[in-house]
Amino acid sequence: MMKLVELKEDSKDLDLFHHYVHLPPESKVELHVYSIVLLYCLHSYYRSKFKLQGAIFAKVIILISQIKVNSMAIVRMKSSDVSNPSKQSGNLSLPGDSMTSNFEQARVGQGIYLSGSVFNHSCMPNVHAYFISRTLLIRATEYVPSGCPLEMSYGPQVGQWDYRNRQQFLLDRYTFKCQCNGCTRANLPDLVLNAFRCAKVNCFGVVLDDTMVEYEKHKYYHLQETPKDHSTEHQREVEKLMHDEIKNVACLIFEHSNHCPEIQSGCCLKCGSPNDLKYLRATADEADTYFRSLQEAVNSNDVSAGLLSNALSSLNDLKSALHSYNKKLAEAEDILAEAFCSVGEMQQAIDHCTISIQILKKLYSPGHIAVGNELVKLSSLQLALGDAAAAVDTVRQMDTIFSNYCGKQAVLMFPYLKYLKGEVVHKLADGRKS
Ligand SMILES: [Zn+2]
Ligand SMILES: [Zn+2]
Repeated sequence: MMKLVELKEDSKDLDLFHHYVHLPPESKVELHVYSIVLLYCLHSYYRSKFKLQGAIFAKVIILISQIKVNSMAIVRMKSSDVSNPSKQSGNLSLPGDSMTSNFEQARVGQGIYLSGSVFNHSCMPNVHAYFISRTLLIRATEYVPSGCPLEMSYGPQVGQWDYRNRQQFLLDRYTFKCQCNGCTRANLPDLVLNAFRCAKVNCFGVVLDDTMVEYEKHKYYHLQETPKDHSTEHQREVEKLMHDEIKNVACLIFEHSNHCPEIQSGCCLKCGSPNDLKYLRATADEADTYFRSLQEAVNSNDVSAGLLSNALSSLNDLKSALHSYNKKLAEAEDILAEAFCSVGEMQQAIDHCTISIQILKKLYSPGHIAVGNELVKLSSLQLALGDAAAAVDTVRQMDTIFSNYCGKQAVLMFPYLKYLKGEVVHKLADGRKS
């Protein structure tokens, strides 16, 4: 909680953005009410020397806006069973909206960090912010060419949320329209996250609905206007890879003309053939209901053979309607992994967990922290099955990712990393003895 130490009438304003003018009228009214209530409370209960007058109310309104826009949530690992992830309840759950947050994080405070406020947001950040107690640490997670801005994520990232929801969140929460690389350039995750699959045999193209098409077109036009600054050889290589991946699922968006007629809802963006969107959506929605039931059964520890077999056939329906990189498929595979784990079928659980991770690697990147978090689950399953050799490899990948995000502090930030490393060593030693 922020402590108001001393606020004199002539105190210097904090040199931070407040975006007050961009706030919608209802938010402004809310701030005015907060300011009045706060000052009256200070006056009545703390004998504050502030005068109850317009200029002071206005100052407090700006201060509250600054806190809202600039404060950062201080997080740390949840304390329960951090040393043993396999004991955590819901260990295999895939909380869709918090996938990029570190495994089982809890908010423990809120703070203003003047140096932290200098960083702009990006939905494809190149730095990672984390806390040791109240100290904010910031670390680059990728090669950043000189002259390139360092950007952190204030919330949803590419691969986690789609373009529309990211934009809405940032507008509501921070009153800005995001124009980061992820929001102004075509990228694979935004194309596939909610995409349907093309009905044509062996076509890997994506099929988008009206809304997705509208946003992709918007991005496409912006792409034409945005000059590519800071373009280095490394970046050009990354862009080429990205371009190739997009081509693999949506080559038609590059065959542009002035009005991009090739991008149409229901049409495959690779082969151009039309698809029945209504049918695809109905199939996906119906299959999804079985996964909701399975998730409930997992939560209440009541997974039956019948539910599992229904979910397995629903998985095939889901695969027939959704693109192979659609996030819903990753979630379905993860729920199945969890369900098989709960009935002791470890090999099946590992197989489904592995497929889920493969999709997440496409949605984020193979070295993203969200993938690291899923590898924790996979290594726990491999250890439970007694497959130490596979677990060694998984723990090594996990270690690389977490070290990239937190350096030497990775063991501090992710206490289960130490636990899993220890478990792997034990299992290997046991294997040698027997
Ligand atoms: Zn963005
Ligand atoms: Zn196609």
